[in-house]
Amino acid sequence: MKTQAKQIVIVGAGLGGLFSAAYLSQLGFKVTLLESHNKLGGLATWYYRLDRKYLFSVSPHIVPKSLSKYLRQAFGSELSDELIPYPQIYFHKLNHACSFKKSDYQIFLSSHLGSQDLERVFSPVERDIDLSIKDYLDKRIENKDAFYNLIYLPLSHAKGLSLDSSIQTFYQTLDLFLEDGCFGFKSPIDVLMKKIKTHLEAQGVEIKMNKKVEHIQKVQNLLKIQTHSETIMADVVLWGATPQIVFNDLYPEANFKELSLTKTVSLNQVAMGIRGDTNLSQHTLFLNKAEDSREGYFHFNSEFSSLIYSSLDKSTDWKNIDETTYKTRKSSLMDHAHKLVEKFYGKLDIEFTEVSSPKTVEAFTHHYHGAIFGHKSDLDQYLTTMEDKYPGLYFVGARGEDFSGWLGMAKLAKLTANKCQNFLMEGSL
Ligand SMILES: Cc1cc2nc3c(=O)[nH]c(=O)nc-3n(C[C@H](O)[C@H](O)[C@H](O)COP(=O)(O)OP(=O)(O)OC[C@H]3O[C@@H](n4cnc5c(N)ncnc54)[C@H](O)[C@@H]3O)c2cc1C
Repeated sequence: MKTQAKQIVIVGAGLGGLFSAAYLSQLGFKVTLLESHNKLGGLATWYYRLDRKYLFSVSPHIVPKSLSKYLRQAFGSELSDELIPYPQIYFHKLNHACSFKKSDYQIFLSSHLGSQDLERVFSPVERDIDLSIKDYLDKRIENKDAFYNLIYLPLSHAKGLSLDSSIQTFYQTLDLFLEDGCFGFKSPIDVLMKKIKTHLEAQGVEIKMNKKVEHIQKVQNLLKIQTHSETIMADVVLWGATPQIVFNDLYPEANFKELSLTKTVSLNQVAMGIRGDTNLSQHTLFLNKAEDSREGYFHFNSEFSSLIYSSLDKSTDWKNIDETTYKTRKSSLMDHAHKLVEKFYGKLDIEFTEVSSPKTVEAFTHHYHGAIFGHKSDLDQYLTTMEDKYPGLYFVGARGEDFSGWLGMAKLAKLTANKCQNFLMEGSL
């Protein structure tokens, strides 16, 4: 396809930035992708430990099957062929494994929820109620524990839902997964990112790593992007990174730091490398509610014998603590994870353990909040109207529940690519 001579810069090579780069280059635009880290993927990241013996993928990458068509359109069938069904979700309290397919799941739920609750869950009438998940649970569900543990928890981990999310989003998510069950990727995330990079480069996308954007400014009809080593002028900028810089530069009136930190919960992760053979199966999630008031889950990669325990916490709790408290907290998390491992899996030979806190994540991705699904509603008023105040500037990072996770980012990127095309075409008339 003939390249159209308009400069589009995408800041941040998270999922939003990567999908956007794919769609826009397919439309024939000249795209430059700037990433501050030395890896693509953003929060969809990984690390090797002990001389590449263990690969830890930060996320389990649970996705609905409908992602497949977006992967194919953006990155070709090499990526969409990667999707495989998740064999099962394991509910430890009940010692029961279940696929997330509607038929299986319905049978499973019927032995734990009363008939009234069950009817509600599968009734289309319930999908339009204007309540938060928390209020819905309080007001309409009898067996709250079962609903919480067996439906809410797996969905919240697969879509970043919280109890404050609307029940409509909750049911939309449930419907999305129940169609065909949960899916995951065959290859580890580092392999997927390599494939994505090759694909984008073949489409002509210029990818610049280790380029942290420090400022952005409107200069006449263009946007001026400043990294530590260069200045780039662009017709259009898609901002897929932490909104901090755009906010500080373009919205001095918004008290961004306070806005961003008040509500957000983040994930702490304990990564464990298991020595020797284990009989833990690949892609099985063990959900557990509040062993000591925390909530979390395990995901295991059998190819690398890597086990990750993720637990929810408030990112604010990890801000501004002194070094000693920081170390003590990390080691208490480690002990907690080891105890849980023993409880659920029995004695395992744990060769390696490392803790990642919101602070660790901030160091790598510049997210104030640590490991999150997307920025929550506090910022939405600015993020959704950015293009009105600054024509040609779009936010393509995760926000809210609709636009987060693999599917959400693919959808947002597609919508935004269309908007960019219209904007640039109008300008050239
Ligand atoms: C632990 C965990 C588990 C998850 N599990 C799932 C799951 O099972 N299924 C699912 O669908 N989703 C899951 N998600 C959600 C999903 O990973 C995120 O919604 C998605 O990755 C967010 O993408 P993003 O485009 O907002 O970019 P981010 O991931 O936020 O990436 C932003 C990028 O911008 C870069 N950057 C930041 N500042 C600058 C700067 N100034 N200049 C240049 N670059 C910059 C960063 O280095 C980063 O690469 C999970 C998330 C987490 C944290």
